[in-house]
Amino acid sequence: MKARVDADTCIGCGLCESTCPEVFKMDGDKAVVIGSVVPKAAEVTCKKAAEDCPVTAIVAS
Ligand code: SF4
Repeated sequence: MKARVDADTCIGCGLCESTCPEVFKMDGDKAVVIGSVVPKAAEVTCKKAAEDCPVTAIVAS
């Protein structure tokens, strides 16, 4: 599974980093994805972060 953040859409709320710090981290006022592949153990929280993003900036599949 991979994840991507649309930087143009992200409003920098920090929720994804709180929900799934294994995959997302804040870089200034935008979230970025750590690494190229989502670790197996973080897939559930990664999907939750994508669902909970208030502006639907995360694609995880
Ligand atoms: S939850 Fe969405 S809007 Fe908030 S920091 Fe993460 S990607 Fe950006």
